[in-house]
Amino acid sequence: MNFNIQGLITGADRSQLAQLPGGNFLIHQKAQEDFLSLVELAAKDGIDLGIVSSYRDFSRQLATWNAKVRGEKAVLDSEGVELNIKNLNEEELLFAILRWNALPGTSRHHWGTDIDVFDINTTPEGYEIQLIPSEISQAGPYHKLGIWLQEMVTVKKSFNFFRPYQEDLGGVAPEWWHISHGPTAQVLEHELSIDIILNIVDQSEILLKETIKDNIEEICAGYVFNIHSFNN
Ligand SMILES: [Zn+2]
Repeated sequence: MNFNIQGLITGADRSQLAQLPGGNFLIHQKAQEDFLSLVELAAKDGIDLGIVSSYRDFSRQLATWNAKVRGEKAVLDSEGVELNIKNLNEEELLFAILRWNALPGTSRHHWGTDIDVFDINTTPEGYEIQLIPSEISQAGPYHKLGIWLQEMVTVKKSFNFFRPYQEDLGGVAPEWWHISHGPTAQVLEHELSIDIILNIVDQSEILLKETIKDNIEEICAGYVFNIHSFNN
């Protein structure tokens, strides 16, 4: 086990991160310049690209995970509607959470290469961003951003950013807001393996640990490696 690799995968090693202008968000050094170029391009098209979330460490991902298992945070179905988790067995609960939340240790946000974005310009006063599919519907606040982002990715004007959750591949639900810096993320992607993920899970205080271990191959194949690839 290479500790350095595991540290980078789980976000424990912050040595590759840089602070974005404005202060609150960390991003991988190698993704910073491209992200700022994307923000500049967006501005030319009338979009004020803001960040909901960029780098997140393991403990934050773990806190969200455990809160969902305990029923302290809503677990949503594919349309973004809250599920009654009392009706689910442990395995069903596990896969319901995975639709919207990465297993701690496998989140691409640990790497600093992946960012959840929104448009500051079209956010109504007092509006709380939910990051759900309906927000880019015709009537939603981020309709314009959703179309613009996909267009830039498709015509390869997105400064190496791509959308790993662009369409529904049966694992993670499509996330219009989630972008990833392809060349930088790929390096980490290649280091991820079932063995490393099992090791991370084993060492953690994660709820549903045994159910996760029993289903680790399906989790990795369906939710970790199952993304829209940068090279497509
Ligand atoms: Zn995200």
